Amino acid sequence: MARRKNKELIEIAMDIGGEEAVEVVKALEKMKEATDEEIAEKTGIRVNTVRRILYKLNDQGLADFKRIRDPETGWYYYYWRLETKRLPEIIKARKMAELKRLKEMLDEETSEIYYWCGEEGHPRLTFDEAMEYEFQCPICGKMLMQYDNSRIVEELKKRIEELEIELGLRKKPRKKKSG
Ligand SMILES: [Zn+2]
Repeated sequence: MARRKNKELIEIAMDIGGEEAVEVVKALEKMKEATDEEIAEKTGIRVNTVRRILYKLNDQGLADFKRIRDPETGWYYYYWRLETKRLPEIIKARKMAELKRLKEMLDEETSEIYYWCGEEGHPRLTFDEAMEYEFQCPICGKMLMQYDNSRIVEELKKRIEELEIELGLRKKPRKKKSG
């Protein structure tokens, strides 16, 4: 698997089930095909947890299994493997969702003027809210001033632009030879 895809798969695994899911994905990558018990043994993660992670990966279309019956015992074994065919599609969907979220945040930042006392961790208030508190911080009572969110707005715009370029929704600012 290409390194970039691999990095994205690890990120998705992290979102799905944290460090343990990352360990499961890494183990499956190495083992190619394994039962939940084999993965548990290799990673040291409890088999119930491994199973839960595998089902979550399966839900996302990132892991698949084969059911094989042991002819002697009659028991079924599930052999799991990573499924990366849908990975580009999943990555794209995640980026689209992220883009939507960032645009909503940008909208929120630019459609309101915020007021703040200047103390780290104290709330930012909209104009209406600030009016209600007579322009005094509800926590410390200091006078509220206009909150300068230009750096947040810049950061959001930059991230949106990067994502739009990655998604092919916007052209790269500078021409570059392909290849
Ligand atoms: Zn305050």
